Amino acid sequence: MKSILPISIWPGSMINAFLIKGENQHILVDTGVPGSEHKILNQLEKRNIDKNKIGLIIVTHAHIDHFGSAARLKKILNIPILVHKLDEAAYCSGKADKSTMKVNKPQWKLFKLLVQNQETSKFKPDIIIEGDATYDLERWGIKGKVIHTPGHTPGSLSIILDNNAAIIMDMMASGILLGGLMFHSRIKHPLFHDDLKALKSSFKKVLSEKGEQFYLGHGKPVNRKQVLKYYHSL
Ligand SMILES: [Zn+2]
Ligand SMILES: [Zn+2]
Repeated sequence: MKSILPISIWPGSMINAFLIKGENQHILVDTGVPGSEHKILNQLEKRNIDKNKIGLIIVTHAHIDHFGSAARLKKILNIPILVHKLDEAAYCSGKADKSTMKVNKPQWKLFKLLVQNQETSKFKPDIIIEGDATYDLERWGIKGKVIHTPGHTPGSLSIILDNNAAIIMDMMASGILLGGLMFHSRIKHPLFHDDLKALKSSFKKVLSEKGEQFYLGHGKPVNRKQVLKYYHSL
């Protein structure tokens, strides 16, 4: 889907952010680890994207590899940030909520110790989705919507576009290590999920839409068949 441009935060799709490209305005989805702001802006410049046309930042969830550079990008671009209410406290403190970081495999506990206390610049979100409300992106010139898909974190958001593409970020992952590098067709857990039952319902919600290509925070995009396979494994 040409309207979704992957932005590489760590190489080999290990950590991704995305730009949703509209006719007149664009939306940045997630902001990488702390200190990624120039990496993101440079990649957009190389692809002839005018940063002044970015109208909105959507932060999909309150893990530091996704909101790490949100405060700085908000300042540089002077644009609003959209989040879900249930992850708001983490954005306002600059720290992820440790209690929701439940490792998906016991051997990943060490990694949790390394990342759980990371901090970044805090920010106050401008547009807050509450409850199960959907947010239409039409006002930003994009045909699609933002929906609440809790499970990975309580306030996780996904973006469903009208062209059968969706950004579901950390609802699942693909590849090896944190994502990319090799074996892109291999689907897997991300490091953490807060609530597997809620996640399963969120997949149901996502799969009730027509999506065919699903973009992830860690790893290459996956197709509907791969999403169904992961859903059934939950
Ligand atoms: Zn995450
Ligand atoms: Zn992540």
